[in-house]
Amino acid sequence: MINILANDGISESAIELLREKGFNVTNEHINQDSLAESINKNNYEVILVRSATKIRKELIDKCPNIKLIGRGGVGMDNIDVEYAIDKGIKVINTPKASSLSVAELVFAHLFGMVRSLYDSNRKMPMNGEKDFKKLKKSYSSGSELFGKTLGIIGFGRIGQEVARIAIALGMKVLAHDKTISEANITLKFFDDSKKTFTIETDPINTVLERSDFITLHIPKIDDKPVITAKEIKLMKTGAGIINTSRGGLIDEDILMFSLEKKKLAYAALDVFSNEPTPSIHLLMQENISLTPHIGAATREAQERVGTELAEKIIKFYNKK
Ligand code: NAD
Repeated sequence: MINILANDGISESAIELLREKGFNVTNEHINQDSLAESINKNNYEVILVRSATKIRKELIDKCPNIKLIGRGGVGMDNIDVEYAIDKGIKVINTPKASSLSVAELVFAHLFGMVRSLYDSNRKMPMNGEKDFKKLKKSYSSGSELFGKTLGIIGFGRIGQEVARIAIALGMKVLAHDKTISEANITLKFFDDSKKTFTIETDPINTVLERSDFITLHIPKIDDKPVITAKEIKLMKTGAGIINTSRGGLIDEDILMFSLEKKKLAYAALDVFSNEPTPSIHLLMQENISLTPHIGAATREAQERVGTELAEKIIKFYNKK
């Protein structure tokens, strides 16, 4: 019997699929400190994680029986992938399964930003009864997304999904990517009709200078932020910025300074430099719409992630 540990959760349908094929699945979270011991004690051959559990060299060295590491999601920065492969371990992920969910979260933040919902939701329960008129006045200069320009930095799977939604809303789209020079964005409508738009990417400075909102969809390669004082300086005064990619892509101190000085009007963050203990100063900042790394956390995305992982595991063990 092959033992699988799903340490950061996995969908019920995936568990069912794996059990039907004779795998023994344990869906529970073991703390990082006790993980190696538990893997060896229970003879887990397959370890499935999302972004919380870290699979580093030390753990791989301590657990020689691991044959497969599965990441439910895209970014592999919590796994020492090359090292695992060198040790003969198969490493899999599910790159496409969560793109739509992350893209929709970008718009949840965007719609909330332009009408100050993030702030209104904090203040209405406290002051809505006595200060209704005052609050109404403070949120009286919202704006529409229609006709505004969205600048997408990183035009891969999620970036292109974001473009699709933006076009459907009547926004203009600019994009920048290190390797992609153009992409065909196909919109599919409720009546099965389709329309394809070709978007050519631009240099980063053009995107920063001309956009009303900037959204980041690039991987984190090293510890250097991609958005620093230099990039923010190029942005329009009163613009907004959204990071649903990886913590640290925006210099957080510069971001807070730019919001305080009103260079930027708002920001939205799903990811933070110091997860899972983000800076309290950032969390207390009035103009930031905040979510705790929930980009892929929809039932639909997790179903797709689970099914894709299960199918890849079954294929790896070649179970018919
Ligand atoms: P992808 O690989 O499909 O696209 C990334 C694109 O960024 C590529 O086209 C690449 O050429 C480009 N790129 C890389 N570095 C760049 C740079 N410095 N400047 C410009 N372009 C650059 O990846 P994806 O599936 O679209 O995922 C994007 C990001 O979203 C990843 O960091 C991933 O970890 C993150 N993500 C977050 C969540 C969440 O829960 N918030 C969920 C899924 C993915």
